[in-house]
Amino acid sequence: MHSTEHPEIMWGLGLDRDAADYIEAAAGPGYALRNLPPDAVAWMRGSKGRTQAAWIPWSVWTSLPKSRRQVCGEDDCVRRILLLAEDAEVLETEQVLAEGFVTAVRAPLTRFKVRDALLRLREMDSLTADLRRKTEEIALERELLVRKSNHLSFLNRVLSRATASLDAATILSKARGDLRYLLPLTALSAVFWTRPADGPGLSAELYMPCLLTPPESDEWQQALIEAAEQRAGTKVSEYRQICLVPDRNRKPVPGPGAGRLVLLPLSVGGESFGCLALMTDKGLRLAKDQVQTLNACVNHLALALRNALLYRQVKIQADRDGLTKIGNRRSFEERLSSEAARHGRYDQPLSMILVDLDHFKKVNDTHGHPAGDEVLREMAALLGEGLRSTDYPARYGGEEFAVILPHTSRDQAALLAERLRERVAERVFRIGASKTGLDLTVSVGVASLPACGTAQDLVLMADQALYVAKNNGRNRVVLAGPSSLLKEHGIEDRPQSERHAGSGPRGLAAGHEGELGMVQNRVGM
Ligand code: GH3
Ligand code: MG
Ligand code: MG
Repeated sequence: MHSTEHPEIMWGLGLDRDAADYIEAAAGPGYALRNLPPDAVAWMRGSKGRTQAAWIPWSVWTSLPKSRRQVCGEDDCVRRILLLAEDAEVLETEQVLAEGFVTAVRAPLTRFKVRDALLRLREMDSLTADLRRKTEEIALERELLVRKSNHLSFLNRVLSRATASLDAATILSKARGDLRYLLPLTALSAVFWTRPADGPGLSAELYMPCLLTPPESDEWQQALIEAAEQRAGTKVSEYRQICLVPDRNRKPVPGPGAGRLVLLPLSVGGESFGCLALMTDKGLRLAKDQVQTLNACVNHLALALRNALLYRQVKIQADRDGLTKIGNRRSFEERLSSEAARHGRYDQPLSMILVDLDHFKKVNDTHGHPAGDEVLREMAALLGEGLRSTDYPARYGGEEFAVILPHTSRDQAALLAERLRERVAERVFRIGASKTGLDLTVSVGVASLPACGTAQDLVLMADQALYVAKNNGRNRVVLAGPSSLLKEHGIEDRPQSERHAGSGPRGLAAGHEGELGMVQNRVGM
């Protein structure tokens, strides 16, 4: 409805007076027609958001220069209605539309024709508005799709990078890089926990940001332990720390209080096993879709981390000897060959010791197999005492043990072996419910890998030295000298007396006999 006070303007371009009057009258009281001279196209302006009708006779239109017609065609706010003379040739609809007219009306004009043309114009307006709305909706959908696709490719990247590794520290270091695409991350750390069957509290692993020094390192440790205790509802009774790989920028990491610490629980199948700690700017507020992406990302990471922790647990079990819980023969050989390869690359000393309990069979025979097992367990614990973290103790088989000693010279290995022999000799092994005391001794073969030597050479040399120790009366340490290899290569061996200078009842061969004490062998009561 158009009010008569504010009639809607219609334009006429070069209309004859009768036609102009007729159109204005036929359109009704809501319309007013302003008839312009044929060359006044530029005055015929519509206003934004409200289109206006313009009545143009075909004769006027075709007499306009092309540039004028173009100017007219560019104004979306004016809808043109073509007026055809009664005797004018018939125009195809395509031609009418191509000229930019909404419709055409042929003379003689009637009220119906005028109103019908105006009605079409209004229909066109509402269609255009619908179309515009739809276009806007499509544009919005497209934007949402682009965001969804970005979100999915981000999650895909996080997941594929996380599952590419079975090492928790590597997964976390990669996640730190990936999450930086989502939020400004100052640091990332994590805590994982287990509930040991034999302990009262949690056993935790703290994956700390790297390059930390006190007091920041203590603060991070505290924050992670608190996070674990809060989520698990149990105190942490033991923990170990693992440093993540440093960032590429190697910037020192501030304490957790310097930013906002976002703690995200890690759980799989309803079982929570850890917590991710993300440190961001203090004032950071995350948008809803950022939170959703972050949650999806953490779910992916939880799966990958759980897998990595399970894999490590299975690997540890596969590498451990069931009775003594130290490395088994397979893991010993694996480790030795990688150490031997490193020795070959960096020319660093590599030694090993091979330890065999003396007359162990008698322990089993006299006290039973379970007692023998107890001794083996205690022996494994003794073996681990005083070793460096890079040394690798293992049960070589039966009552034989071995220790791989990277970066250790032959002399250092010999001293270590001798200290072990002394510790065993001094120890009273308590077995069974009655805690019967047993005195035991060990024989030890020591070998160092010469340049170009292989892992097999090293084991062979240590085994030969152990054999000599046994043959020379047990409870002693014997060093495999280069002579062993010389002999193998047909070169003259050193005399026995020189090779095993301490060839008394027990002790360290090759000049260490002075350090040896006399120990009474009390095995086999
Ligand atoms: P030697 O001084 O020459 O080494 O004498 P030995 O008696 O220690 O050596 P021998 O090879 O004759 O005996 C090794 C014994 O170790 C035989 C075997 O019953 C025992 N043994 C091997 N594995 C185990 C085990 O897992 N548990 C127990 N209890 N005994 C074991
Ligand atoms: Mg033995
Ligand atoms: Mg043996």
